[in-house]
Amino acid sequence: PAQIVCTGLGKTFGGGTEAVQALDLTLAAGQTTALVGPSGCGKSTLLRMIAGLEEPSFGTVTIGGAPPSETLRHAGLSVAFQDPSLLPWRSVRGNIELALRLARRPVDVAAVEALIALVGLDGFGDTKPAELSGGMRQRAAIARALATKPGLLLLDEPFGAVDELTRQQLAQDLPRIWEAQRTTTVLVTHSVSEAVLLSDRVIVLSPRPAQIVADIDIPLPRP
Ligand code: ADP
Ligand code: ADP
Repeated sequence: PAQIVCTGLGKTFGGGTEAVQALDLTLAAGQTTALVGPSGCGKSTLLRMIAGLEEPSFGTVTIGGAPPSETLRHAGLSVAFQDPSLLPWRSVRGNIELALRLARRPVDVAAVEALIALVGLDGFGDTKPAELSGGMRQRAAIARALATKPGLLLLDEPFGAVDELTRQQLAQDLPRIWEAQRTTTVLVTHSVSEAVLLSDRVIVLSPRPAQIVADIDIPLPRP
C-alpha cells in the first residue's frame, strides 16, 4: 500500500466553480480514510484527482511519491463507484477474472473463489449481475475491486444504490474484508455512521470549496 499526499490541491471548473481549494492532506499507507461532507462540496472531485481521472488546477497529488498515473500502471488502483458497473453478460467470477486479466495478473482460481466467499457471495460465482440483488452486486463490485490487490482502493458512495438494511449488513462485513486485505482506501460517503464504522480516520469537509473542518482518528478496534 502507498501513502497519498495532496499539497495545495485545488480544482476550479470552467465557469469558475471552485470545487476544492488549497487542500493539504496526507493519508497513511494501509489506512482507510472516509471523506464526509455535504452534497456538492467537492468530495468526488477530490477522489477523482487522487485517482488521476481529473487534472488539478493547483497543487499536486502523489501516491507513494509518484503521480497517480504511475499508480495506475504499477501499484494498481481500483475504484468502485455508486453504480457497480459489472459487465452484464459475465458472471461474478467472469467479471473478477476479466479485471485480473486487464491488470495483467495471473488468474488464481482458488483465490478468486476465496474472494467471492469473503464478500458473502459463496455459491454465486456463476450468477450474472441481473440475477443478483442490489446489495449482492455491490459486494461483487467490491470483490472485483479487491481482486487485483490494488495499492489504492477508491470508493465513491459504493453503497449508494443499496437499501438501508443492506447498507448496515455491508458496513458490518466490510471491516473484516478490509482487514483480510490491507490496502490504502479512500471512501467518499455522506453517511457519518458509515464513515465511523468503516474507517480508521474520518475527514469532514466544508461546503464547497472543500476544506477540512474536522479530522478524526477512529482508534477503537472496528467491529
Ligand atoms: P460531491 O462529491 O461532494 O457531491 P462534487 O465533487 O461532485 O461534489 O462537485 C463539487 C462541485 O463541483 C459541485 O458544485 C459540482 O456541481 C461541481 N462540478 C463537479 N464536476 C464538474 C464539472 N465537470 N464541471 C463543472 N462543475 C463541476
Ligand atoms: P438488496 O440490496 O436488494 O436489499 P440484499 O443483499 O439484502 O439485497 O439481498 C436480498 C436477498 O438476496 C436476501 O434476502 C437473500 O435471500 C439474498 N442474498 C443476499 N446475499 C446472499 C448470500 N450471501 N447468500 C445467499 N443469499 C443471499
